[in-house]
Amino acid sequence: MSVTQQQVHEALAKVMSPRGAALTDANVLSEITVNDGKVFFSINVDAAEAHAWENVRAEVEAAVRAIPGVTAAMIALTAERKAGAVPPPHRHAQGVPHVSSHRPQSASGSPMSKQSDIPGISAVIAVASGKGGVGKSTTALNLALGLRDLGLRVGLLDADIYGPSVPRLTGIREKPQLNDAKKMLPIKRFGLAVMSIGFLVEEETAMIWRGPMVMSAITQMLRDVVWGTLDILVVDMPPGTGDAQLTLAQNVPLKGAIIISTPQDLSLIDARRGLAMFKKVNVPVLGIVENMSYFQCPHCGTRSDIFGHGGARHEAERLAVPFLGEIPLHMSIRATSDSGTPVVESEPDGPHAAIYRAIGAKVRDQLQGVIAAA
Ligand code: ADP
Repeated sequence: MSVTQQQVHEALAKVMSPRGAALTDANVLSEITVNDGKVFFSINVDAAEAHAWENVRAEVEAAVRAIPGVTAAMIALTAERKAGAVPPPHRHAQGVPHVSSHRPQSASGSPMSKQSDIPGISAVIAVASGKGGVGKSTTALNLALGLRDLGLRVGLLDADIYGPSVPRLTGIREKPQLNDAKKMLPIKRFGLAVMSIGFLVEEETAMIWRGPMVMSAITQMLRDVVWGTLDILVVDMPPGTGDAQLTLAQNVPLKGAIIISTPQDLSLIDARRGLAMFKKVNVPVLGIVENMSYFQCPHCGTRSDIFGHGGARHEAERLAVPFLGEIPLHMSIRATSDSGTPVVESEPDGPHAAIYRAIGAKVRDQLQGVIAAA
């Protein structure tokens, strides 16, 4: 049964806004997106009223989920600060709608005050890069598998809303199931609990999402998923250092961030921006990984430093952040990634798997206190 916008609209007309009018007359709704049984939209209110709207958001979500044929509902409460109200916590955050789909809006204005831990998960860490195409997703997945090989319980969240690649990298084609409480069950693959925005929407749909909906989707993928007990949840972040990344870092209680860079100068400049962003929001930088560090010939194994090798290591030293390791540019890393069986899984005894495990060990050692405490 296919759900229509009209059905959603009719359900919303029955919900009252705190102002006493029907929600559909309150002039607060974004465009409603319905895609294959999944419904997305946001409720945009003034920050001062956000608290009063929190219950309405929950009511709306229940009403939408009750429509026959709806398999998922992602509804964000976004709050715009009026000029002259509480000053924005950071220049980039001005005008960025603050998603509060699960927690009440904070009146304090502190970006970190919106955070709360995710029950059952000891450490959420971000894998980030200054720009796209540096191998962030490939590294995030293989690192997650390396951490798994160290005996840890690991999840992978693909939050790269602008181009989710985890479905391709893991070969996962199925959609997540809902449990009785209508929470999504992550897909189990290679011993990891995996969730990706790409499981829910087609890639083209993800590309045109508006900012607040992006944040809402990421928040729900973190908090409306039955992750179970995990030592580490690896979040594959969107590339860059725009508002989406900053807001994500402010909303998610990250225990650390890993920056992926290639040796080229340009990407190191971008990586420096990433570092600065995490420092700004008080997320510890666990270190830098140099991907495509050197070319390794798949035939003779000879190494060529075609990009001028060692840039990321020097940069890490200069910035006093740990250097986690160098991953070669190698045919089998690309081929295994793109065929849905990442190299740590398909060649567990090979040299590449060993590199990812070694990086994983450095990450685990830095998180030891957090994991052990849990
Ligand atoms: P990003 O997430 O930064 O956009 P991806 O992980 O999707 O980048 O990688 C981009 C492309 O580069 C993919 O085709 C991937 O297989 C390939 N790739 C990534 N890392 C390596 C590597 N170390 N060696 C060879 N190919 C790689």
